[in-house]
Amino acid sequence: MSTNFLADLTGSFATSAAQNPTVQLMEAAYQHDHVNCRYINCEVPPGNLADAVRGAVGMGWLGFNCSIPHKVAILEFLDELAPSAAIIGAVNTVINDNGRLTGENTDGQGFLKSLREVTDPAGQEVVIFGAGGAARAIAVESALGGARSVTIVNRTPAKGEELAALIEERTPATGAYLPWSAGFPLPPTASIIVNATSIGFHPNADATLDVDVKTFLPHMVVADVVANPPQTRWLTAAAGAGCTTLTGLGMLVNQALINGKLWTGIDLSADVMRRELEQLFGVAR
Ligand code: NDP
Repeated sequence: MSTNFLADLTGSFATSAAQNPTVQLMEAAYQHDHVNCRYINCEVPPGNLADAVRGAVGMGWLGFNCSIPHKVAILEFLDELAPSAAIIGAVNTVINDNGRLTGENTDGQGFLKSLREVTDPAGQEVVIFGAGGAARAIAVESALGGARSVTIVNRTPAKGEELAALIEERTPATGAYLPWSAGFPLPPTASIIVNATSIGFHPNADATLDVDVKTFLPHMVVADVVANPPQTRWLTAAAGAGCTTLTGLGMLVNQALINGKLWTGIDLSADVMRRELEQLFGVAR
């Protein structure tokens, strides 16, 4: 009988790492699919990122995720950037090919994979609330996915304007910024609306976006990046108006699937990952 006691290694570098659920779904999927690979969740403060990267390369890790606060700082250690990661200017996934490190940003790719299950963004008008890391990745991927326009609505104007300019200058889509006025009315021609802020995230699940819910229209696909809880007040209001809704669970599962494929070449089980998340965060209704 031949036995291999040496697992391949993947994982995550972040601080604080303790609240990051990715380890749970990756390990469950590796085990379910009989992939001899582990996912190690590592607490890495900013000053230790260089050592962590050197360690991963030295130990032959297949790759790793970078989360807060390393998504931009990691760039200086990489040999290559995937095209969308280069535009976004941030990396959440690193692939190690015998010491040659490539950076990808799979946050937005995970979102697009979820979105494509209900609609193709090509030719559509997208409105995104927020201008942070998640908004940036979703805006760029939607634009590269063929959206006609991407409008950013953000509390801090300078960040919103900067992201709108990035879309306008670096992608084929039109980029625009709208100030977030009280009771913000959704443009009736918009067809994909995304909450990419952290509003509604546990433990502040009672919070919701300052948007006129009477302007939700049934033709709109309304998405949330918040995965915990999956059924946010934002999505409940949109569903009540007859919109198609997408929870943040799909984005989280899909980016984990993409990461697993990039590292191992294997299509891991989406069902297993989703079940793990639903056990952690509750089932979206
Ligand atoms: P950032 O800190 O980079 O950005 C946060 C954004 O939310 C900013 O645009 C900020 O506006 C806005 N915001 C926060 N609070 C408020 C408020 N009270 N009113 C108005 N705007 C507000 O965070 P990320 O982009 O990294 O993450 C955002 C959310 O996305 C988090 O909840 C995170 O968990 C989730 N996420 C989900 C993923 C998934 O797979 N489902 C993947 C990645 C992230 P301002 O610029 O004015 O500060």
